[in-house]
Amino acid sequence: MSKIKRVGIMGGTFDPIHYGHLVTAEAARTEFQLDKVIFTPTGNPPHKRYPVTPAEQRYLMTVLAINDNPYFEVSRMEIDRPGLTYTVDTLESFYKELGNDVRLFFISGADAVLDILTWKDVDRVLSYCTFIAATRPGYPMDKLNQKISQLKELYGREVYPMKVTGLDISSTDIRRRVKEGLSIKYLLPPSVEVFIQKNNLYR
Ligand code: ATP
Ligand code: MG
Repeated sequence: MSKIKRVGIMGGTFDPIHYGHLVTAEAARTEFQLDKVIFTPTGNPPHKRYPVTPAEQRYLMTVLAINDNPYFEVSRMEIDRPGLTYTVDTLESFYKELGNDVRLFFISGADAVLDILTWKDVDRVLSYCTFIAATRPGYPMDKLNQKISQLKELYGREVYPMKVTGLDISSTDIRRRVKEGLSIKYLLPPSVEVFIQKNNLYR
């Protein structure tokens, strides 16, 4: 019998990807003994209001960013799917692609877990994967713990909180900094910084 593979799925807009994402994925990999983490840039995100950078460019930045980590991969699953993307469909597609000998872990920020009840087919989402909820510095843990108890009561599923070492970086802040001509050095990988400059993103 083959060993069950533990695979982390790190979804995000990654507009742009930054060290907050990377350090979170690496923390999840080591704390939860994941065999690999698959970064999955979103296609056409339904809930983002600002003009999102074309998927192909967000995909390329993600590829550049994960290049030096042998345990990280990038999937085109969501960006190649036309129309709106739902996590439930993504998870189903990953099972089809990876086979049934895998256990999927969905890595996300605690903020995402807080509004998980608004997601499409939340019961199926929770049955397909184990949630790892990363908290940023200063995060109000009682709110998250409340939600975790609620999800356990409603669906009988565990969500695992994970404290991530002090990185208060966001893509929103990076976009603003580029727009205002401020430095983004040390907030994201140099290769991604160069890509942003060369392609005139966020100006
Ligand atoms: P934006 O500012 O545009 O919302 P973001 O920095 O939050 O972007 P996303 O692509 O929206 O990045 O996030 C992808 C996933 O990574 C989400 O689950 C989000 O909660 C999580 N995340 C984002 N930034 C961090 C960070 N600094 N530390 C831990 N997790 C993060
Ligand atoms: Mg966000």
